[in-house]
Amino acid sequence: MRVLVVEDEPALADALARGLERDGFAVDVAADGIDGLHQARETSYDAIVLDIMLPGLDGLSILRELRGASVWTPILMLTARDADEDITTALDVGADDYLTKPFSLAVLVARLRSLMRRGAPERPAVLAAGDLSLDPATRRCARGGEAVTLTPREFALLEFLMRRAGDVLTKTTILEHVWDEHYDGDANVVEVYVGYLRKKVDVPFQRAAIETVRGAGYRLRPDGG
Ligand code: CA
Repeated sequence: MRVLVVEDEPALADALARGLERDGFAVDVAADGIDGLHQARETSYDAIVLDIMLPGLDGLSILRELRGASVWTPILMLTARDADEDITTALDVGADDYLTKPFSLAVLVARLRSLMRRGAPERPAVLAAGDLSLDPATRRCARGGEAVTLTPREFALLEFLMRRAGDVLTKTTILEHVWDEHYDGDANVVEVYVGYLRKKVDVPFQRAAIETVRGAGYRLRPDGG
């Protein structure tokens, strides 16, 4: 099993490498973020131990880059104490586990073995329809590379339309999937939100990704309109 350790503190990196090697792992070490990202992309590892605070490129950016490039290698993040926000972000962006420094090597090895047993399942990639993209992990939406800000409801609606791109979806179906099951208001709320979405992802770009199918519902064009 080959492990990449991305850690800039030489003493810790060294201790990790020696400890993991003693446990039978093959270990590569990267001492900064740029080198870490490069090695993670060039070599197929069974797991990556990734520090968050790194010179060059921080661990969260590396994680985003890797998941964005469909690299699903199990990743265990190392964080400083009191870094709850970093941990939440890391898990949202696709980290598999984390340890807070200082930690015991035995625990790290046990966690790594557990991650490797699970392997590297494919996670939902970024949804795309032409140049319209939506990343459920980072909650980001973009049209032609330009960021589009959506409210949570608009995001949920677009996500549902994009996951079912090409299908004609009735207002009732949309309502069931995007609104709370207890919502008993007017189905025309769908129409209202489709209008909001169009003003954000279609109109400013002179496109028409969201089509109205008369008498039936809506359909998101897989080519982005
Ligand atoms: Ca560090």
